Amino acid sequence: MHSHTLPQRHALTIALLAAAAVAGSPAMAKEVTDADIVNDAKTPGDVVSFGLGTQGQRFSPLTAVNAKTVKNLVPVWSMSFGGEKQRGQESQPVIHDGKMYVTASYSRLFAIDAASGKKLWKYEHRLPDGIMPCCDVINRGAALYGNLVIFGTLDAQLVALNKETGKVVWKEKLGDYAAGYSYTAAPIIVKGKVITGVSGGEFGIVGRMDARDALTGKMVWTRPTVEGHMGYLWDKEGNKVENGITGTTNASWTGDLWETGGAATWNGATYDPDTNLIFAGTGNPAPWNSHLRPGDNLYSSSTVAIDPDTGKIAWHYQNTPHDGWDFDGVNEFVSFDYKGKDGKIVKAGGKADRNGFFFVNDRTNGKLLNAFPFVNKITWATGIDLKTGRPNYIEEGRPGDPSADADGKKGKVVFSAPSFLGGKNQQQMAYSPQTGLFYVPANEWAMDIWNEPVSYKKGAAYLGAGFTIKALNDDYIGTMRAFDPTTGKMVWEHKNYAPLWGGALTTAGNLVFYGTPEGFLKALDAKTGKELWKFQTGTGIVAPPVTWEQDGEQYVGVVSGWGGAVPLWGGDVAKRVNYLEQGGSVWVFKLHKG
Ligand code: CA
Ligand code: CA
Repeated sequence: MHSHTLPQRHALTIALLAAAAVAGSPAMAKEVTDADIVNDAKTPGDVVSFGLGTQGQRFSPLTAVNAKTVKNLVPVWSMSFGGEKQRGQESQPVIHDGKMYVTASYSRLFAIDAASGKKLWKYEHRLPDGIMPCCDVINRGAALYGNLVIFGTLDAQLVALNKETGKVVWKEKLGDYAAGYSYTAAPIIVKGKVITGVSGGEFGIVGRMDARDALTGKMVWTRPTVEGHMGYLWDKEGNKVENGITGTTNASWTGDLWETGGAATWNGATYDPDTNLIFAGTGNPAPWNSHLRPGDNLYSSSTVAIDPDTGKIAWHYQNTPHDGWDFDGVNEFVSFDYKGKDGKIVKAGGKADRNGFFFVNDRTNGKLLNAFPFVNKITWATGIDLKTGRPNYIEEGRPGDPSADADGKKGKVVFSAPSFLGGKNQQQMAYSPQTGLFYVPANEWAMDIWNEPVSYKKGAAYLGAGFTIKALNDDYIGTMRAFDPTTGKMVWEHKNYAPLWGGALTTAGNLVFYGTPEGFLKALDAKTGKELWKFQTGTGIVAPPVTWEQDGEQYVGVVSGWGGAVPLWGGDVAKRVNYLEQGGSVWVFKLHKG
């Protein structure tokens, strides 16, 4: 496939250049190249990937804003997303050639002059009635490639716009929104291909990862993440060719349940050029009621490593085999150099899973290297066995089987921690190679959960479970925590009253930036956790901050706008934070000179 896509792309680039020359275009807009994307983490002049580098470390080498100077950080501009549409704003902006591209709720995308905040253009995707996003009308960001800005929509489309004009260049369908498919994650670009997953695990969809030619939208391969489904790739003539069944049909599923098995890939993926692997997290097996589907239910609640050239699964590691709590293993797998207890450096990846454990896997083969809790209370397992790689389950921690009950309508209620919203949810952690620490925006909460009978019906919630989320402490739910991945020890924490739902950013200036639902963008000392700076953005932050350099100055940017899954699914916690107000804007900061 590779030899097919590259010449095609070059041909198109040449055609575009020729067209520009004929038209006498004065300044050709700067294109985003594969080299720009692969080198993103090392080039602070732009942010051209989700994660400030495809490995997802969210580490910036910039030092102008640092533990000493951060007190002088002041707002430069703020831009409202406007309209009547607010709700959750979970987007990470991307910045290239002095322009910021940022998505907003209800499948909107804005291009903004990054230094002045001047709006350049806006794209509003026309959404049909009847979309079914499970967890608010959010979007996590766009990808840049060539002259395109590409993002997914709530009606499960992938839209590529000309990044200078906002005009649609191509549009492709990711799934049937009437069956529960949607898309909210930021796409990633790997070697000219745009890589996406699908959302809809609460509706019994079938999770998968897709690769398309980023310039044309044409399919390259598709890889289902539920065992038993066929993968495909597309040959030079555009024919769909079988590319091997994922796993072995019925090996880890009972009956025909694999046909509606979930394992949604709703939180995107990371890519590691060292191993040439895409790492995707997969969500819950469907339905939630685990008694209906005996077996491990591969490849749900797992990390799946996929070869970007062939679409084949190179390895997998299941964080929660036979998940019965909606512990979606969708959390990002962040590549880093792991220093083993023997001092040896291993190419590894870290993942703070919704199930409350932090996992370190060898990223070349998936072997489990370390696992430790990153939240205080875990009721479903006593730990992870490093030899077998499997959890040591506490059987009483699994919600009961309704069919064992007298009337068969409701199984035994179980008090479970973490809650299904997770020790960590969509909010991305950061890793600093300088301190060697992971910065994990974690939450301490629990739930009452019970199972109910359910059968699959297209477009209907497919849970077979009920629940109420509860806080574990009066004074905090959220807590930013710094972990040493070798010892598993928490080095510091900084508590927050409301649950944390925005990602982290760390910098060579010894800082950790993150936002709170209370509206503050905060900077902490990366080594000690001491709060050094904060700014009130006017509404809750549920998105990850970014930083970049422009005209010799360091900028920090973040999207603000309270919403996401907590107000919709949060039970007692939703009530506890119902005083928080909605909004929708981008804030940008730099150091005050003076
Ligand atoms: Ca960069
Ligand atoms: Ca789920």
